[in-house]
Amino acid sequence: MKITLLDIPGYERVAKAQDDATGLLAFIAVHDRTLGPALGGMRLWNYESEDAALTDVLRLSRGMTFKSSVARTGLGGGKSVLVASADQKSPELFEAMGRFVDTFEGKYITAEDVNVGVADLLSVRKSTKYVTGLPREQGGSGNPSPSTARGCYVGMKAAALEAFGDASLEGKLVALQGVGSVGYTLGRHIVDEGGKLVVADISQENVGRAVNELGATAVEPDAIYDVDCDIYAPCALGATVNDDTIPRLKCKAIAGAANNQLLDENVHAEALRQRGILYAPDYVINAGGIINVSLELEEGGYNEAAAIVKIDNIHEALLSVFETARVKGITTHEAAQQVAEANLASAGATA
Ligand code: NAD
Repeated sequence: MKITLLDIPGYERVAKAQDDATGLLAFIAVHDRTLGPALGGMRLWNYESEDAALTDVLRLSRGMTFKSSVARTGLGGGKSVLVASADQKSPELFEAMGRFVDTFEGKYITAEDVNVGVADLLSVRKSTKYVTGLPREQGGSGNPSPSTARGCYVGMKAAALEAFGDASLEGKLVALQGVGSVGYTLGRHIVDEGGKLVVADISQENVGRAVNELGATAVEPDAIYDVDCDIYAPCALGATVNDDTIPRLKCKAIAGAANNQLLDENVHAEALRQRGILYAPDYVINAGGIINVSLELEEGGYNEAAAIVKIDNIHEALLSVFETARVKGITTHEAAQQVAEANLASAGATA
């Protein structure tokens, strides 16, 4: 395996791995470890170029630093990406990825992300111990997606309270983009509370499941931005809130699980503020998974009841971000950033 260190300003350690025997091409980025070891999921995606993969891992790992800072998980920010299509997945590929993770000697700890599940992580575990999100039977915290969905649900209720004056989702119409692991479970919470769903997904199978099991109405992937709804919930990939989509959105709030929802954080947060659309900062609302996984590393091991209490705090954390933004006349993104940076600064000062 050939490992190349990349010198990226503002990042602690970024590396690329190529392994001819297994076809592995991957990047790992450790953004910041002020608050603890860098923990973040492993994403497998068929990136169109190495540059696109590198850009993604840099954005995602930086987002993890802020996410863990606001959620007070005691962890830093890191992430990994594999450049491959889902049909190229194999145990050998993930074992090779485990060897790459191991070269970080615990500075980076991995978990699930898009296209990487518990079974894949069991292969990663064969070559490194720096893996979380393993099955509950093996002492782990399991798949983080239900926890992420729960956090998004309580966060969406906070957004509803701020935007509509009532936290209830009963009768609310949510445009849900991506009904995969997190999106489907979030949709289930919404429907159970009496909300309604319009969904879009590039997977016909996932669309069918949402229509049949959640009573959702389906639209074509690109039409989701035009749906006249109360809340837009991005639960697919990032950067869907941008110059093209913001003028099309007909919602009062954005509350979803995807990472890096804003193409340009400052520009597009401000554009949303000017349009009167409340934005629940992605790394605050989608922290349920990392909170759940972080409890796996605590003394005494994983404790589900403690995890739920901490995940449900996302509701209060968001209300506080919304209030700061309202009082100071700044974007909700800036308000969240201020909390994240204050926590990093106070930890840095006492380190
Ligand atoms: P997933 O792969 O299970 O689901 C993603 C879904 O989005 C799939 O059904 C996919 O077909 C669909 N999709 C992809 N491109 C699309 C497009 N252009 N239009 C519509 N649908 C599209 O992934 P997931 O674990 O549910 O994660 C969803 C998002 O939430 C990702 O951005 C992920 O980074 C983020 N997130 C996930 C977790 C977690 O615990 N899984 C935690 C934090 C953040």
